[in-house]
Amino acid sequence: MHDQDAMREALWEAENAGEDVPVGAVLVKDGTIIARAHNERESGPEGIFAHAEMLCMQRAAARLKTERLQGCTLYVTLEPCPMCAGAMMLSGLDACVFGAYDARQGCCGSVYDLPEDDRFYHRVQVSGGLLHDESAALLRRFFENKRGKGMI
Ligand SMILES: [Zn+2]
Repeated sequence: MHDQDAMREALWEAENAGEDVPVGAVLVKDGTIIARAHNERESGPEGIFAHAEMLCMQRAAARLKTERLQGCTLYVTLEPCPMCAGAMMLSGLDACVFGAYDARQGCCGSVYDLPEDDRFYHRVQVSGGLLHDESAALLRRFFENKRGKGMI
């Protein structure tokens, strides 16, 4: 599965995030998507913990019956935050490909670069900016719409 195709699937997830901030993720192992998710902060009980990446990794772990995500690549439309970057590292994930950069809380190169810091035991190979424009446009439209309704 090509990086672009996987990211398009993650974008599709983001587009279906409903009332949530449109961030989507898919997890690929052996060329196949084994888990997918979008943000569920608004719709689920987990609130801030229900980032697309966290849900996606949890679903993959449930499916693989192990929390170790070696051999897996996570595709996510927005640069992971500290929580998600941390979970990626702890799970032993191989790689992460993300779309838009997040200058406010991105921890895969923007604010920090946690997954590639060689002071940590496990490093995750990170590549950012794939289909950046599409991911960023989704987010921009979402927040413009909220502002238009006076919700933020
Ligand atoms: Zn996160």
